[in-house]
Amino acid sequence: MEADMNLPGRLKQSDSQDIVAEIIDLLRARGDSGYGHEAVTQLEHALQAATLALENNATSELIAAALLHDIGHLLHELPDDAPDQGIDDHHERVGFHFLKSHFGPATYEPVKMHVDAKRYMCLARPGYYETLSEPSQISLRLQGGPMDAEEATQFESNPHYQATVELRIWDDTAKDPEKKTPPLEAFEPHLRRAFAAKA
Ligand code: FE
Repeated sequence: MEADMNLPGRLKQSDSQDIVAEIIDLLRARGDSGYGHEAVTQLEHALQAATLALENNATSELIAAALLHDIGHLLHELPDDAPDQGIDDHHERVGFHFLKSHFGPATYEPVKMHVDAKRYMCLARPGYYETLSEPSQISLRLQGGPMDAEEATQFESNPHYQATVELRIWDDTAKDPEKKTPPLEAFEPHLRRAFAAKA
């Protein structure tokens, strides 16, 4: 079963006056939903991933990718526990289709590939699978399991694959209920720079 690619009404228009403001509104309005079975909300998870990007001196485009990598979860109407029901929500594709209208490839490519990056690292980094949280191990099975060598070679041919691996590590780490982050507003300048960088 695939996620509905339809976007909520107010985000359907790609000619929005201020898409960055709308994205921030969406994160505020829907970000308190659960992040699967993890101990953080969607907004906390997004802020922690973006903060880790900031702490690692990432570009604004990659900070935007970290903040928005799971926006697909907020753009479909499937329940938070979809994986429990054997449903892959394909949130990376929903997010990618939305972001590519507004941002450049340095933002939307890592978002598109961040689930594949988990499958890739299960093959390329021995011991990685064991570091994944249980919900992430469960969703991995729905997402196709570890890559084979041919898929990994294909993955490495994407010019954004190293940035995607970085994003994946931040994603996996951004599940700490105690971590303090800057507020959402602090990331607005990075979203605006990433938006302006669209080729
Ligand atoms: Fe995530």
